[in-house]
Amino acid sequence: MTSDSFDSFDPLSFSTIPTPPEGFKSGFVGIVGRPNVGKSTLMNALVGQKVAITSPTAQTTRNRLRGILSNDQAQIIFVDTPGIHKPHHELGKILVKNARMAIDAVDATLFVVDGSVAAGRGDEFVASLLAPSAVPVILGLNKIDQQPAEEAEAIDASYQAMADTHGWPLVKFSALHEQQLDTLLQTLIDRLDPGPYYYPPDLVTDQPERFIMGELIREQILLHTREEVPHSVAIAIDRVEEDATITRILATIHVERDSQKGILIGKRGSMLKTIGSEARQQIQKLVMGQVYLELFVKVVPKWRQSRSRLEDFGYRVEE
Ligand code: GDP
Ligand code: MG
Repeated sequence: MTSDSFDSFDPLSFSTIPTPPEGFKSGFVGIVGRPNVGKSTLMNALVGQKVAITSPTAQTTRNRLRGILSNDQAQIIFVDTPGIHKPHHELGKILVKNARMAIDAVDATLFVVDGSVAAGRGDEFVASLLAPSAVPVILGLNKIDQQPAEEAEAIDASYQAMADTHGWPLVKFSALHEQQLDTLLQTLIDRLDPGPYYYPPDLVTDQPERFIMGELIREQILLHTREEVPHSVAIAIDRVEEDATITRILATIHVERDSQKGILIGKRGSMLKTIGSEARQQIQKLVMGQVYLELFVKVVPKWRQSRSRLEDFGYRVEE
């Protein structure tokens, strides 16, 4: 197969959309909150598969990304969003804009906060954006596994006050350790209306495979390089060729400066080798087969300032 036939692969054409049983519920649920509170981790846990990348570095999720959960009661399409924060440059502005769009275009909103610390100004900012929302909001207190015992009560109280002010239900859980996610799920389902299947029940994301491949490469860059590099990379998947035994992928990592290129390549190519080999292992799980991955690094000055560049790199630039 050539890369063209790979592009035209349409997962929807391979499975069918069943008729829902009586009382079946469905809807879109936006996951919003400050960066780093665990939104992507939560979506992956709920969907049961890694569809969004996560990392200890803030701001890893760029596009709105959908994860689909289907059981015999309901189908929920989760919309993961970039963290909401004060924007500093063009990319930042687009991230916040996309998150705000996500708030308006869903059937319910799950507002995730970091339960290991008390409510702060960042959370208040998000709450103020959600307050006028016409759809149900659920306040999700994540990272309960990390609550310091002596402060737990005060922390809970700070979020309970926020929930009471707005009339939002409060649900506590740990996305990372998959604790109390059942309660969360039931709270969400209770707030959805009866509806159809929007996607075949076996689909976990609406993203094209190529996009996920790029995200898996970006994830390794986040994990292995210093602060300045991660926010300046864009991955283009240049070619995907599948044959009976192996999938060959050529990808280019775009950075803004020569210094970043140097860091990415590393001493005698050692960094790029590490990133490539670990990303390759992740992609092998995605395609369920052998992968050969070749990575190139290219400097494109100031790509984050350019809307057309952002679109070239696959970012949804919403108006
Ligand atoms: P996002 O920016 O809101 O999407 O946050 P991520 O999902 O990328 O998670 C940020 C960091 O928080 C990662 O290091 C996660 O492993 C960590 N994290 C997420 N959920 C939990 C949790 O329930 N408990 C703990 N201890 N860590 C978590
Ligand atoms: Mg995220």
